[in-house]
Amino acid sequence: MNNDWTEISINTTTIAGELISEFLIEEGAKGIVLGEWSPDSLSEYTTVKAYMPFDYDQINELEDKIMKQLKNYSESGLKTGAKEVIVKKVKEDEWSNSWKQYFHVTHIGKNFVIKPLWEDYQAKANELVINFDPGMAFGTGTHPSTQLCLEKLEEFADQFEDKNINILDLGTGSGVLAIAMNLLGFKNITAIDNDSVAINASEENFKTNNLIIELFKGEIKDCNDSYDFIAGNLLAEIIESLSAQIAEKLKPQGIFMGAGIIRQKEKSVTESLENNGLKLIEKKYHDDWVLLVFKKH
Ligand code: SAH
Repeated sequence: MNNDWTEISINTTTIAGELISEFLIEEGAKGIVLGEWSPDSLSEYTTVKAYMPFDYDQINELEDKIMKQLKNYSESGLKTGAKEVIVKKVKEDEWSNSWKQYFHVTHIGKNFVIKPLWEDYQAKANELVINFDPGMAFGTGTHPSTQLCLEKLEEFADQFEDKNINILDLGTGSGVLAIAMNLLGFKNITAIDNDSVAINASEENFKTNNLIIELFKGEIKDCNDSYDFIAGNLLAEIIESLSAQIAEKLKPQGIFMGAGIIRQKEKSVTESLENNGLKLIEKKYHDDWVLLVFKKH
């Protein structure tokens, strides 16, 4: 088997880079590296590197699609920067480790520390350390939207005295939010994702952190339970498309924390969930991203 890859680099803005990454995953990218990605060095511009199989033969079509996507973003008011696309063939080990240079010990919220497996860190007494290898799944845990979630989860932990409430981490990615909730003391967490790369990464990360968290590959409709709290750090469009199911799976008075929403989409996501009987009770912003909290009547 050939372990080499076709690498597509795109120079653009951080926000457009985020969106184009999601698009490239839908188009079959097996891995994404987002450059300059740390909360302390948030830059407006980034280079997104997407990895397609070595023998991927639709590169010209894909380049056209990328340019079209970027054009759509700029027409909807987003800055897209240089919009440069560079394609090259690379060896397996050039990329599978390349993103590690961007991912370091990161402090988030009051007590969370995200620690890459390959770095040493001496934790202080009150710190909650998430040992982490994002693998090829989305999320090093340091994304602004994930940060918003982690900060909010700390607040919830103070708010919810009952740590036995039923929780769903919808779109767990590499498992960061489920691990965080467990470290905050919550006991009944189910994590799901519809992507097997994410399932493998989160399974590994649960093991590394010595946590037993129920995990399965699937969609929210496959969940048989109902929940007091659902965390969904998904994209706006996905949240909208799942609004009815999210509302249905919440218990009365249940809370949905939705994130991964760019500001332009705040209104439509809110409308979509409110049309399904939830009420917006709080919002938090970080850069271009918003986190929305809803409550079921
Ligand atoms: N929760 C993580 C990862 C967020 S990325 C974090 O906060 O960092 C969003 C994840 O949702 C991806 O892993 C993607 O595979 C998953 N996803 C997207 N659509 C989904 C759906 N309809 N059902 C379940 N998971 C989904």
